Amino acid sequence: MSNEVVTGTTRVCGLIASPVAHTMSPAMHNAAFRSLGLDYIYVPFLVAPEDLPNALDGLRALGIRGFNVSIPHKVTCIPFLDGLDPLAEHIGAVNTVVNNDGDLRGYNTDAEGFLRSLTERDIPVARQNIVIVGAGGAARAVAYILAREGAYLTMLNRTPEAAETLADMIEDDFGQRVPFFALEEAALEEALAEAHILVNTTSVGMSPDNDASPVPARLLRADLTVCDIVYNPVRTALLAAAEAAGAATVSGVEMLAWQGALAFELWTGAGAPFDLMRGTVLELLQTHEE
Ligand code: NAP
Repeated sequence: MSNEVVTGTTRVCGLIASPVAHTMSPAMHNAAFRSLGLDYIYVPFLVAPEDLPNALDGLRALGIRGFNVSIPHKVTCIPFLDGLDPLAEHIGAVNTVVNNDGDLRGYNTDAEGFLRSLTERDIPVARQNIVIVGAGGAARAVAYILAREGAYLTMLNRTPEAAETLADMIEDDFGQRVPFFALEEAALEEALAEAHILVNTTSVGMSPDNDASPVPARLLRADLTVCDIVYNPVRTALLAAAEAAGAATVSGVEMLAWQGALAFELWTGAGAPFDLMRGTVLELLQTHEE
């Protein structure tokens, strides 16, 4: 590769989202491309909902190698793609697209990324009781992949109807009846009494509401593994309380870096430099927090 950052042969990857200004993906992917000497570049694209079909046609016409898809396009992009990986099809959401000569294929690396954040730390999932708090878009990917791996799920959400919809999806796909409850302290206490793992998939605790937590500290214990998929701040109030209770914790940075690493591998065919990608995101987040 030449010393120029962009040449006539550079392959372009990117992100479509709205808003897009605060994304950490360009830093994470460009650091990874550079470290492997790959002639690739990653750029953010601000795409409003009404511009999505034109934007996808443009990405196809310009020969963009691949792109991430974030809020608000993860579900609405699906009808405009040429095919879906089975995991993305089951979950009904896409966060990564690969462009093979104009054929846009959608993947969901959020789900596999979350799973890797546990398995790469030797945290078992199969036959474990896992309490999922939240039932939004990310919860869908997390619940699907955990059920696929044989976990026993319980779901709680502020709006219980959304938890019910997710529980029905898991029952249809895996035959597992998932108990669901409104996100209230008594129901949480009962669900957590038998739990091995707690996963927060709500946005509660996300910057600037750093002091908020979806689970009261008194319900956390040393023999629980607590995962928060919120990554900004890195150490959420929930994770801080879990650490204080002696619990093992997994930060949302792990999922963020793993979903990126898996997308990188789909676009380049090269093994992703995971530690570098994770370190790049951590450094950026810590700079924001200072
Ligand atoms: P979403 O679809 O908007 O869902 C938001 C969820 O949070 C819903 O369950 C919602 O409950 C709940 N919620 C919001 N405010 C609440 C409150 N004050 N009290 C209780 N529950 C509340 O969002 P999403 O796309 O799933 O994202 C959720 C979080 O995950 C975000 O912080 C996002 O940054 C993070 N995330 C991280 C990664 C990663 O790689 N680490 C990947 C994807 C997402 P209702 O149904 O009652 O509204």
